[in-house]
Amino acid sequence: MNLEEIESIGDAHISGNIETPLRSDAFEKSDDDKIKNIQYHFSEIMKELGLDLTDDSLSGTPYRFAKMYVKELFYGLNPQNRPNISTFDNKYGYEKILVEQNISIDSSCEHHFLPIVGNAHVGYIPKDKVVGLSKINRLVDYYAHRPQVQERLCLQILKDLQQTLGTDDVIVVVNAKHLCVSSRGIKDKNSFTTTVEYGGQFTEPSIRNEFFDIINKSVDLS
Ligand SMILES: [Zn+2]
Repeated sequence: MNLEEIESIGDAHISGNIETPLRSDAFEKSDDDKIKNIQYHFSEIMKELGLDLTDDSLSGTPYRFAKMYVKELFYGLNPQNRPNISTFDNKYGYEKILVEQNISIDSSCEHHFLPIVGNAHVGYIPKDKVVGLSKINRLVDYYAHRPQVQERLCLQILKDLQQTLGTDDVIVVVNAKHLCVSSRGIKDKNSFTTTVEYGGQFTEPSIRNEFFDIINKSVDLS
């Protein structure tokens, strides 16, 4: 790939696959080994930029950076970190829309490794199974903590919830600002991106609109 193609893939935020592209040996090393290696490589990047790593303020940065990457920002790469989502029988027979909204999105763009911040709204129509509400937030958090493109993030949340809940009747909306758009490139501070993915009953416009009515008219509980 030439440099122009590399830039244009980043600017277009193109991604080909719903699965995060991972190497087959992605989890053979321990987290501690990864932190050690990333610490070394990031210190080399800092040196290349001309920074003096003997300075007190900078000397711990490569370690902090490496630990943040492995344990925080990208913990969601490792399937072992997927939250355990136990489902319960839908004993009360609730079969209308349930909406979990304003779920925080803290993610990172895989083309520039800059933050993607915003919120997600998730709706589903229960069949036989329901989940604890906070589990939806945890699942969103897990998929967000990977190098991502927003379209894939939205789809990964949808597919997982459809599988976990045993129904296609799920809708996911993600609104997010991309720092790679606001702080570099076009430098647009105000625009944000919305993605919507849904299946099952939400393919019906009336059901989908019921969901959008709920998220648009909801009271501010903060
Ligand atoms: Zn980007």
